[in-house]
Amino acid sequence: MPVPNSKPEITAEVGGQKNVEALLKVSRDFRSDTMTIPTDAQLLFALQASRGDDVYMEDDATSSLERRIAKLAGKEAALFAVSGTMTNQLSIRTHMKQPPHSIITDHRAHVHKMEAGGIAMFTQATTHQLVPSNGIYLTLEDIEPALVLGTNIHYAPTKLICLENTLSGMIFPQDEVVRIGGLARKHDIGMHLDGARIWNVAAAEIERRGLDARKEEDLETVLTDLLEPFDSASLCLSKGIGAPIGSAIVGTKEFIDRARWFRKAFGGGIRQSGGIAAAADYAITHHFPRLAGTHALARRLQEGLKELGCDILAPVETNMVFFDPAPIGLTLDSVMARLKALPEPILVMRERLVVHHQSSPQAVEDFIAVVAEMKKEREAGGHPEKEQVDDPMLEEGKLRRQAALGY
Ligand SMILES: *Cc1c(COP(=O)(O)O)cnc(C)c1O
Repeated sequence: MPVPNSKPEITAEVGGQKNVEALLKVSRDFRSDTMTIPTDAQLLFALQASRGDDVYMEDDATSSLERRIAKLAGKEAALFAVSGTMTNQLSIRTHMKQPPHSIITDHRAHVHKMEAGGIAMFTQATTHQLVPSNGIYLTLEDIEPALVLGTNIHYAPTKLICLENTLSGMIFPQDEVVRIGGLARKHDIGMHLDGARIWNVAAAEIERRGLDARKEEDLETVLTDLLEPFDSASLCLSKGIGAPIGSAIVGTKEFIDRARWFRKAFGGGIRQSGGIAAAADYAITHHFPRLAGTHALARRLQEGLKELGCDILAPVETNMVFFDPAPIGLTLDSVMARLKALPEPILVMRERLVVHHQSSPQAVEDFIAVVAEMKKEREAGGHPEKEQVDDPMLEEGKLRRQAALGY
């Protein structure tokens, strides 16, 4: 559970009453983990940050954040930019030299589905979107036959493999990442990670290994291992970590120097970026250790909904729960409407529920209570629950099929 604070994160005296109310709203907002807001302490920390010009590379707060993230990631250098879309697209642009060339992604990948067609726009690459045969994550066996190698002029050679971790909240098994990395190296193909939620993977891994999320060196150990197979990675700071803005690329110094050049061309150089860099720095220090609690809250939400008879559509491994209330005779629309009509509304965006570090345990309990109440009403109306088939394989098959939908 999130660590109870001795002091509220936002007070009327420091943050203003409007923002006290905004915090209550986001604590009940399950649409995304972008729905966090900066805390008083975070903005007070930002207030003290250096105010140099980062395009001239004269801002200490930005440079020190970049150095910190590079070290945590076990890479030579890092580059701060405004969004995860920008850091993915800058990375991909930096990898790709000149057509003909192509990129392998999962068919659900954010880089090709959710970034406004940026890959085609900025690199002229063809994207090969693969469907994982296990329904959840790509394997070496999926990727190897799809590689375009050699000099046959009909084809666009594979220059980059892009993976995503987490994808729909699911953790990419690291031994498979390592195998894919080996394949890429063998053929001199680049490896990029869309690690928008790699912090969540790191938090889960720290827990699994019995390490301490508050220790910089423990985070470094885990993140370095996770990113070792990649030439570059994009790490969002405004998702689970809860920075107001920002994302970072990590890679070799040469790669980052080149990406910095493209960032300028994209119009993405920021002048006095110290305040936002400091807010992100604060978030790594103070919010990262809360992710384990976030994940526990997601598990509680999953258990509550499952106990009531809802389908859980994908494995809950970090901060996302995909649910379907159809087995208890409810529609998503009706559940969403009832949650929104509460005196203190709960917001959801269809079947994907995202828990973040400011989600409140109370919101999770209220959510479960609403579904329980609706289920009871439904039963009282003489519509018995649909018969449940108790077959683990059926359940597993459903999970895999549903996970393939992607978000
Ligand atoms: C959110 C997200 C991004 C980047 O999004 P921005 O809104 O541009 O910061 C990239 N990849 C994944 C998987 C994401 O969830």
